[in-house]
Amino acid sequence: MSRILIIEDNPASLELMRYLLKMSGHEVHAADDGAAGLEAARQLLPDLIICDVRLPKIDGYEVVRCLKADPGFRDVPVIAVTAQAMLGDRERGLAAGFDGYLYKPIEPETFVVEVERFLLAAGRAAPDCG
Ligand code: MN
Repeated sequence: MSRILIIEDNPASLELMRYLLKMSGHEVHAADDGAAGLEAARQLLPDLIICDVRLPKIDGYEVVRCLKADPGFRDVPVIAVTAQAMLGDRERGLAAGFDGYLYKPIEPETFVVEVERFLLAAGRAAPDCG
């Protein structure tokens, strides 16, 4: 079980991601704009952050820039979620500091596996104690 923060302003996307991660036993927190997301990240110290690119108040690029400027978040994976059609987002996002990408529409069959792969890669997956 890992603590995951989702920063997403689209209610349908947020609820789907939240549902899938909770079903897999993760502790899920959510924020629906970039400013609230930064505040939640600092309070919760999540194991992983999923962040929409297009967000009200502070966009995803600025959110990840702020987080990665803080040594406390340097090792916390911040994963962007964006529509696959947005060419150029990937390069721009990696340059801003995102550790990886997940694509919308969310695929219920593979979403959790992909998120857990980022947790494992960062050494943040909690051991399974049965
Ligand atoms: Mn959005």
